[in-house]
Amino acid sequence: MTTSSARTPGERTAGLVERDLRSLWHPFTQHSVWPADDPIVVDRAEGMYLYDTDGNRYLDGVSSLWLSVHGHGVPEIDAAIRNQLGRLDHATFLGMTHEPAIELAERLLATAPRELTRVFYAGDGSSAVEAAIKMAYQAQAQMDGGGPARTLYLHVAEGYHGDTLGAVSVGGIDLFHSTYRPILLDTRMVSSPGVLGPDQTRTDRAREVLAEMRALLERDGDRVCAIVIEPLVQAAGGMLTHDMLFVRGVRALCDEFRVLMVVDEVATGIGRTGRMWAVEHAGVAPDLLTCGKGLTGGYLPLSAVLAREDVYDAFLGTPAQARTFFHGHSYTANPLCCAAAIANLDLMAARGTVAHAARVGKRIGELTAGLATHDGVREIRRIGTMTGIEVASVRERTGFAVCQAARRRGVWVRPLGDVVVLMPPLAIEDEDLETLCSVVEDSVREVLG
Ligand SMILES: *Cc1c(COP(=O)(O)O)cnc(C)c1O
Repeated sequence: MTTSSARTPGERTAGLVERDLRSLWHPFTQHSVWPADDPIVVDRAEGMYLYDTDGNRYLDGVSSLWLSVHGHGVPEIDAAIRNQLGRLDHATFLGMTHEPAIELAERLLATAPRELTRVFYAGDGSSAVEAAIKMAYQAQAQMDGGGPARTLYLHVAEGYHGDTLGAVSVGGIDLFHSTYRPILLDTRMVSSPGVLGPDQTRTDRAREVLAEMRALLERDGDRVCAIVIEPLVQAAGGMLTHDMLFVRGVRALCDEFRVLMVVDEVATGIGRTGRMWAVEHAGVAPDLLTCGKGLTGGYLPLSAVLAREDVYDAFLGTPAQARTFFHGHSYTANPLCCAAAIANLDLMAARGTVAHAARVGKRIGELTAGLATHDGVREIRRIGTMTGIEVASVRERTGFAVCQAARRRGVWVRPLGDVVVLMPPLAIEDEDLETLCSVVEDSVREVLG
């Protein structure tokens, strides 16, 4: 029944898989096919590599789903968590505060556009988006001196903001989101600036979608509280990249129609695009910015909403006025998570990780150039380290087949449909990066000829 009865690694693995299949339900997983996909049982991790219970190692080519910054088992982050554990495990953030949360807020704000002056903590990316969406509605209601209620959200096709209902409401991926449409918030969706028409440039596409957005705002603008976007890269949508003109255009429309700009940097933030924040490329400051994923270096769940002071001010009043943001979680600002995040940001600063990430991105571009001309490759899209290799759909789950081929060669990558994603830890060095790209190239050639 338990691992104690297993004698060989193979028996231990088989026993764990069997127990998993009996008791567990995995996220985004079709359990009728998963057992046949030969699940990996991860045992430990070190640096850029994951090790399974059979002793095989896999290069972590997607940063354990877009999280890891310096890799696994980073001594400085390990020590920071241990030190914090010796002092304070957890305390409520309702009516109390603590140094790790204060320190992290200051550090985060110091990296962000200076218009952002407040940090509200949450747990996962989805819960940060959820908080931002509620903040936007309530801020608008409390800033407005009358007028119709601003209950509408404007968002973008192929967008992804997490899996809680508010986040799903502003999502735009049919496969994930259409099932839930009947139980969602009222929204208006524009086309994706990353899905181009034949022979269309990204600039033209950005202009076209901005015009679509303007038309919606001219009709319903006084009922829209916020526009929610992923800046520069719609990640889960398939690493769809767009022109920074789009981000600037959204800012201008928000100003014109008094709509709040919510920028979801859960995937793009913390150095992923080769800048600390994707909005830096566009030189734009949003009203609300969400971050998560890489915040703790990939160690622990922590996310945050960064807000402008005027949004924060809209919540001030006497207790009886009930202008309070009535929102929070049991583990808000968990000190262990904050300590991991501070250590992560310290290391990033000391090692120049963001500049390194920009170089890693360039190198990925060079190393995948050969693949870009392969007949089976439709397009390679990349901003910074966020890379999507869209392959032709030659069989069921082609992208998945490529990833399985890579796995047999010791590289762990995961597809989004027929887009093979490369998103290594920001700190990856050239040798591992060459392995990642050459293995993926060989795997594409194996599956697509
Ligand atoms: C992953 C992601 C989320 C959701 O974050 P979770 O931590 O998985 O809840 C939200 N927005 C974007 C852009 C993401 O990529």
